[in-house]
Amino acid sequence: MNRDDFPILSETVYGKPLVYLDNAATTQKPRQMLDAMADAYLYRNANIHRGVHHLSQVATERHEQARQRVAEFLGARSEKEIVFTKGTTDSINMLAFSFGEAFVRKDDEIIVSQLEHHSNIVPWQMLCERKQARLRVLPLDGNLRIDASALEGLVNERTRLISVAHVSNVLGAIQPVEDIVRIAQRHHIPVCIDGAQSAPHMPIDVQALDCDFYVCSAHKMYGPTGLGVLYGKQEWLEQLPPAEGGGEMIDHVRFEKTTYNQLPYKFEAGTPDFIGSCAFAAALDYIDSAGRESVCRHESELTDYLERRLAETEGVRIYSKGTAKAGAVSFNVYQGDRLLHPFDVGTLLDRQGVAVRTGHHCAEPLMDYLHILGTVRASIALYNNREDIDALIAALRKAIAMLG
Ligand code: PLP
Repeated sequence: MNRDDFPILSETVYGKPLVYLDNAATTQKPRQMLDAMADAYLYRNANIHRGVHHLSQVATERHEQARQRVAEFLGARSEKEIVFTKGTTDSINMLAFSFGEAFVRKDDEIIVSQLEHHSNIVPWQMLCERKQARLRVLPLDGNLRIDASALEGLVNERTRLISVAHVSNVLGAIQPVEDIVRIAQRHHIPVCIDGAQSAPHMPIDVQALDCDFYVCSAHKMYGPTGLGVLYGKQEWLEQLPPAEGGGEMIDHVRFEKTTYNQLPYKFEAGTPDFIGSCAFAAALDYIDSAGRESVCRHESELTDYLERRLAETEGVRIYSKGTAKAGAVSFNVYQGDRLLHPFDVGTLLDRQGVAVRTGHHCAEPLMDYLHILGTVRASIALYNNREDIDALIAALRKAIAMLG
């Protein structure tokens, strides 16, 4: 890994060197990923799967190799279990619709947790409205982690699916998904893991996790925007109906009856992002060339350092303090009882070149639970270093002095 692979990191904002700590929203892109994208557009651009001509076949081959690369990266048993989508949100919407059509009836229940991203709440809520089913909510423990032990009391014969985050996008805290899967399996309930914030930061092995579904976004993993993954165990995907109709997803179309394509194509209606998939494969190669274990180690050391430096800063309150984290730390600043508005803090950090995110982070139910409107979130990626954290802390101290 070389910071020079990310030209944007050498940019300045307001005349100050950019310190990019908004990686949980989206990561910056290495040249290698962009080269792969340019190469695909410049030399291998033809619509896939349908053409007999050479270019179409090459493009098809590259797209399918990219699928295999994703399958290998996530530890899937087969590339048939990898559905390309537009991103995590699209993956969950697709699953909620498709699973809902097949398995959810009136009075059934779906379980999510208190700390989910809206993307892992609203699609299930919409499904529940469609089917007159109920959304149940797993509570948090004192450290703001999902209380897996509460699951036993929540599941019943009407529970159809559990969908939880692997890593909270607000708190950065790693969630007890292994415990949740173990309990769910005792009750034969499938589990979907929202991996939007775990896939970029830790080695993922969906077979070891033994989850039924896992979703993530390429743009949070140094890859292109508008591309994501829905992993599903083959035995589940076989049972689910397509969520969308169109080209590619069919076997034969007759006005009387249409039959559907095999996995995973039955879930991929229309022309897929066959350029983005090649670029995503290059992004995964990039992560692997840095070494997933060493990226994980580097980032967790950096997250610990970030939390320690924040804790030393007067008035800073860290959420889910001391829990194992991957990538993000959320905090607020208090002067006595007065909360400095996270938006004001974020704006003053921005003026000093430091990019962080402020607000509810698409997790309003978690904000309600914490009785706050928002937090300041600093989030890291493999290219960040201690100097970035030191720059944040120095800028934060100035911001606090100004707001005081
Ligand atoms: N789930 C989590 C935990 C996230 O952090 C995000 C994005 O921040 C999403 C879902 C939605 O991802 P996307 O906007 O890429 O679809």
